[in-house]
Amino acid sequence: PEPIIQVKSKETLSAESNVLVPYSKLAKAFTAIEATTKRLEITKLCADLFNDVLNTSKADPTVLSETVYLCINKLGPDYEGLELGLGESLIMKALGESCGRQVSEIKKQYTKLGDLGQVAMASKQNQSVMFGKPKILTVPVVFDKLKDIAKSTGKESQQKKVNIIKGLLVQCQNEEAKYLVRSLEGKLRIGLAEKTVLIALSQTFVDYDKSIGRSIPADFDAEESVKDVFSQVPNYEIVIRTALESGIAQLNKNIKLTPGVPLKPMLAKPTKSVGEILSRFGEKQFTCEYKYDGERAQVHCCQGKMHVYSRNMEDMSQRYPDIIEILPKIAKPGIDYILDCEAVAWDREQQKILPFQVLSTRKRKDVLSGEIKVRIHLFAFDLLYYNGESFLTKPLSERRRVLSENFVQTPGQFGLAKSMVTADTEEIQQFLDKSISDSCEGLMIKAMDGPESKYEPSKRSLNWLKLKKDYLDGVGDTIDLVVVGAYYGKGKRTNVYGGFLLASYNQSSEEYETVCKIGTGFSDADLQNFYDLLSPLADSRKRSYVVHDESTTTNAPDVWIEPKHVWEVLTADLSLSPVYQAGKAEIPAGKGVSLRFPRFMRIREDKGPEDSTSSQQLVQMYYDQFQK
Ligand code: ATP
Repeated sequence: PEPIIQVKSKETLSAESNVLVPYSKLAKAFTAIEATTKRLEITKLCADLFNDVLNTSKADPTVLSETVYLCINKLGPDYEGLELGLGESLIMKALGESCGRQVSEIKKQYTKLGDLGQVAMASKQNQSVMFGKPKILTVPVVFDKLKDIAKSTGKESQQKKVNIIKGLLVQCQNEEAKYLVRSLEGKLRIGLAEKTVLIALSQTFVDYDKSIGRSIPADFDAEESVKDVFSQVPNYEIVIRTALESGIAQLNKNIKLTPGVPLKPMLAKPTKSVGEILSRFGEKQFTCEYKYDGERAQVHCCQGKMHVYSRNMEDMSQRYPDIIEILPKIAKPGIDYILDCEAVAWDREQQKILPFQVLSTRKRKDVLSGEIKVRIHLFAFDLLYYNGESFLTKPLSERRRVLSENFVQTPGQFGLAKSMVTADTEEIQQFLDKSISDSCEGLMIKAMDGPESKYEPSKRSLNWLKLKKDYLDGVGDTIDLVVVGAYYGKGKRTNVYGGFLLASYNQSSEEYETVCKIGTGFSDADLQNFYDLLSPLADSRKRSYVVHDESTTTNAPDVWIEPKHVWEVLTADLSLSPVYQAGKAEIPAGKGVSLRFPRFMRIREDKGPEDSTSSQQLVQMYYDQFQK
């Protein structure tokens, strides 16, 4: 359909310099959001902000998407990989220079307040106004300047970054300095999760459509529609522009899966026994596939250009030049496609899969094809787009057929995931054993036909079950938790952290709920490494969105850590605890789920904090322990 209103392009907007959205609108909304932990209130504050930005900018999609990115502290979609990566010392230097304060003084105040944002605000308040009223900061200016910082590289870049920050700080008024500095640090700390932003956006789209008299069907689920398109095309600029141009009710029709734009991958639920699989699928046909133990690789071919994306939708094409080299051989030229694959380390001499630990020794940056020692084998397990058509809603049997008929397997480089269709317990058990002896983690069990077998982007679905041999006797799976606090070590380890407080992510309250303390099994080298990684994110202030019982002093960590790093841990079993908080709202007697004897396995670099095991999953796993 023809767009009802003409949404402005970025070029038109920059010509209309009178359309300004002040950054102070964001700072005010952030202050209000930070002051509450109530989800509905936060969603409303967020939607009010977006409505206000739309009104002020006269419905400019670019300014709204810039606002959204500033709210979630990002500079664009994950696959563009634009990151600030600023060290604290550089921000302190810029702050000192712009406010005429010594860095040592700033450091001292920072130690006391535990928040560089507050230090910045205090520094500005105490500064005498020398040049009259500064020009107001606007959202597009802040956003563009942050992008300039992220893009500047090379010899002179440090000073250039300091100058940009100084330029922005000079213009800051009231609480603007606080949030600007927190954005620069990469920790906004207002407890605003992307899920809330999406809900708020859907409300804004509805309000906007109503305001211009565009009709929306009575039973239309705006929230579901926005979440659905965003999981297929996780790019705010595209989603916002399309929603404003065509109306929320047309969003699904007008946004299509696009090669070159990574989608959020489908995920699986854990299962503990072959019996559970049979009762889950009943009469329905399912397939068992090897669960390869490597790194998820979403492979896109778009007009001859190849890309590999991670589980987190980061562009890994530079990291895997060897995968990019394989791709032209696997499909007919001129056909666009999206494949879901696992990349594993491969022993070329023995022609066999190597463990994940070998894969993790590969360089992560500046990988040159000629220097690669650990070789890769790609195993494709799904086809999501082929030759101009989205395959997401086609049954798995059909996706697999097209995959096997049109892609060429190359021994030692590219193949299809090994699979078997059977409903015989004995055969599944044998296939599981075989997968383990072939260096896999276990099996993935998937619905084959009917609507259950469609590909569900971003969902952890019961239509995909994972069966991991190693964990059959425990809780069925490893658990991925977020580091939210740390305890200083004792004896010769006093200069590093000796223990860590871990949390799960509560999907409905969007808070991090503590689960356990972990402190054994680390080598000195591990502890030094973790200290280097975590100390830049540590301070004395507990975040409002971290839930922990501090009533006994021994439980409170020495430092709180901004939720960012995800660790995979193994546990003997799950228990209930009066101290820990995971899933407390869903468990009678006011106790939370905790891990007994947690053991550190590995850092999950491919997961963000919101991708960690949820409190809801932990509660489910706790109760599942009692089922035979
Ligand atoms: P986990 O926490 O189990 O390590 P995850 O949380 O990243 O994994 P899950 O959905 O729980 O994701 O497990 C599926 C993962 O297993 C996928 O992300 C993918 O990387 C990997 N995998 C290996 N083989 C397959 C396969 N045949 N089908 C689907 N995924 C597979």
